[in-house]
Amino acid sequence: MPNPAAHLPFYFGSISRSDAEEHLKLAGMSDGLFLLRQCLRNLGGYVLSMVHKIQFYHYPIERQMNGTYAIAGGKAHCGPEELCEYYSKDADGLCCTLRKPCNRPSGMEPQPGIFDSIRDNMVRAYIRQTWNLEGEALELAIISQAPQVEKLLATTAHETMRWYHGIISREQAESRLYSGTQPDGKFLMRERKEKGTYALSLVYGKTVYHYRITHDKAGKYSIEEGTKFDTLWQLVEYLKLKPDGLIYYLKEDAPNPDMSAASGTPVPPAHPSGKAPRRLTTQNSDGYTPDPTGLENKSRILPMDTSCYESPYSDPEELKDKKLFLKRSNLIVDEVELGVGNFGCVRKGVYKMRKKQIDVAIKMLKSGNEKTQRDDMMKEAQIMHQLDNPYIVRVIGVCEAEALMLVMEMASGGPLHKFLSSKRDEIPVNNVVELMHQVAIGMKYLEEKNFVHRDLAARNVLLVNQHYAKISDFGLSKALAADDSYYMAKTTGKWPLKWYAPECILFRKFSSKSDVWSYGVTMWEAFSYGQKPYKKMKGPDVMTFLENGKRMECPSRCPPEMYKLMNQCWTFKWEDRPDFVTVETLIRTYYYSIAAKTEEGAGPRGAATPT
Ligand code: ADP
Ligand code: MG
Repeated sequence: MPNPAAHLPFYFGSISRSDAEEHLKLAGMSDGLFLLRQCLRNLGGYVLSMVHKIQFYHYPIERQMNGTYAIAGGKAHCGPEELCEYYSKDADGLCCTLRKPCNRPSGMEPQPGIFDSIRDNMVRAYIRQTWNLEGEALELAIISQAPQVEKLLATTAHETMRWYHGIISREQAESRLYSGTQPDGKFLMRERKEKGTYALSLVYGKTVYHYRITHDKAGKYSIEEGTKFDTLWQLVEYLKLKPDGLIYYLKEDAPNPDMSAASGTPVPPAHPSGKAPRRLTTQNSDGYTPDPTGLENKSRILPMDTSCYESPYSDPEELKDKKLFLKRSNLIVDEVELGVGNFGCVRKGVYKMRKKQIDVAIKMLKSGNEKTQRDDMMKEAQIMHQLDNPYIVRVIGVCEAEALMLVMEMASGGPLHKFLSSKRDEIPVNNVVELMHQVAIGMKYLEEKNFVHRDLAARNVLLVNQHYAKISDFGLSKALAADDSYYMAKTTGKWPLKWYAPECILFRKFSSKSDVWSYGVTMWEAFSYGQKPYKKMKGPDVMTFLENGKRMECPSRCPPEMYKLMNQCWTFKWEDRPDFVTVETLIRTYYYSIAAKTEEGAGPRGAATPT
């Protein structure tokens, strides 16, 4: 799971008990001085180390199966931060209340634990192989989907590890362990004949010992009433550190001869059908199409499962044909209208490529239009043609025939504000955070490429499905020269004033920082499930409202962390406003922290005791 304590200044990561005590000593040993560190025994758990009357106390905090956190016997909390906040008001069984955080010295990052690097490598390997991604597409899939992939991985990851031998008999296990040398600690795990039950076979003193792994009602794995684990691979990782009741600790794995994986990091196998997603219930020959909302499917569709995550030209064969102008004969234009815009209508269609056909949206320029509008559409096409990011609608090209047509990837879920207002009660706020995080990834890309969007708004964020958003409508966008950081509009135009930063309105000055302002307004629209911003005000009145230091109120279902972020986006002076690199990091941290605690809380148990 993503670490929900990572952002806390008093979280030290994976440090030992004595290191924790050393830090507390250096910080002065006052009563109630405390820090948080990672727990080695309990994955996803922490230890609260604190001082009272010049003595150290260490309280393990367990992450429970339902996603809540509790000190053994104490009240359950939805995260480590909330837990610490609670104990700063009420000792509730601890030696005293938490009074003063012992923060990490400046420049010191939390110490990553052994499990963190395993987890990160597993997520990376799994995404790379399941969706056959490399480079930037791989990095972005990791950033945007790590929480979902981790959930998928955690329960099945053992199947992908070298030490896991599947269903083999006790005798087969022994013969595999006896082949070659038999150092103490050589081990393997196997599934027993009764499906879903497992055993660990371990060599010690040239003898093989077999331990049955029990799986209790709460879903935890353990050996002979030992430490309990959420997954089999966590059990193995832990027993590599100490025997915990076994005759010896796990040292060297006996690799499964049926598995070709190289040594080192566990590498999960690719999905058998290569790129094909495993969770789709509906699928046609060219990837995913039906049910744009994804609501029908119980299992989650990830952006990488769709046919528009990677560029249609990611295949080198297709890339040969990549040109801005498309042949009319390769395009089928449907009657179906997807929407209307300033130019004319947007129609559904299909574009035939060398090896595949893709669903497209076609922006048609109304006939009888003036030259300036043709030029504008060509400008939009040229801008979009330079962009290639999974969270931005890609342009396939333009086609000059019965009308001038801009051919784009299809995002059939429609504009974000409409989707959210019509599905208000079905879409949890976590889902909104996930989508806005994706918008931040797309905007970070634009910022890096030195493009300004100038029309970022919920109406211009289109959905591929419930869990996949793309930025669209580059009609007002500009590519900045390499050493420019802003675009100065010569005249004012038909502008979306309510989305514009003060410097746009006052000085006609547009930059990635003014896009950040618009991102804040888009966040407000999203968290209010599609309401209109500055409801009763007229565009020009908004400026006075802002100059008086006022800002829109927090939408009713919006988490305070997200309201805080939108207010940062609405920093009056652009110099002081965060950029998209910062915004994306902030929303990512929040998104990961809530992804780790999605389920309902559990009740308290027993009384707390120091260890
Ligand atoms: P305008 O510049 O006139 O606002 P947009 O690019 O925002 O035009 O498109 C107008 C509408 O057309 C959108 O709100 C949406 O409903 C539909 N549309 C545009 N692009 C796509 C696309 N790539 N996929 C699906 N629908 C689209
Ligand atoms: Mg639009």
